[in-house]
Amino acid sequence: MRLVFLGPPGVGKGTQAERLSKHYRIPHIATGDILRKAMADKTPVGLEAKSFIDAGKLVPDEVIINIIRERLKEPDTKSGYVLDGFPRTLHQAEALSRTLEQRHEEIDRVLYFELGEEELVRRIAGRRSCPSCQKIYHTTFNPPPKEGSCTCGTALIQRKDDRPETVKERLAVYRNETSPLIEYYKKQGRLSQIDANESVDAVAERVQDAILQNKSS
Ligand code: AMP
Repeated sequence: MRLVFLGPPGVGKGTQAERLSKHYRIPHIATGDILRKAMADKTPVGLEAKSFIDAGKLVPDEVIINIIRERLKEPDTKSGYVLDGFPRTLHQAEALSRTLEQRHEEIDRVLYFELGEEELVRRIAGRRSCPSCQKIYHTTFNPPPKEGSCTCGTALIQRKDDRPETVKERLAVYRNETSPLIEYYKKQGRLSQIDANESVDAVAERVQDAILQNKSS
């Protein structure tokens, strides 16, 4: 099963993708996580990406497309994957489509998570991340068992780009560059819309429904 999770920052894509990937035992491929790891490891890609990420801008298409091409060569992607945070521009979507064509594969479903901006800002403000295992929490909706600490024992942090001044820019980038993908995938008949204004469990049920519906159609 090959899935794309599409939606604005803070909508809960990462949390849902992580659950789904465990359920179906397919890898959760999050370009944001890959870039944050590259930044922490100070690789050339990480160093190049840092200024874009910190400013809430998109990393250049060619950098991301290469990352995904390489990642999809790994053997664990044979039975499928959840792409989270990629594609984010039309150019990336077209590159993905060409890569899959060469592999005689297709995206089975694109799940588009929808939520109003006010709620997105609220969710991002409370988001805390584990810099070690990348697990995501929310101070109110999904608190860690021990305050301020991940289940892996690492102290949780607020991502630099989750601070209010950068969030505004990320939402604008989403509106301008990523939201045209909704129409792109709708036209292909691959899009399922998910109302994300519910609890994590309720949204997870909607995700399952959308996938099962697709399997039976
Ligand atoms: P995320 O964790 O998905 O919110 O991504 C964090 C940041 O990484 C984004 O604000 C971008 O700067 C960068 N990024 C992640 N995925 C992409 C992508 N597909 N294209 C360009 N930049 C990306």
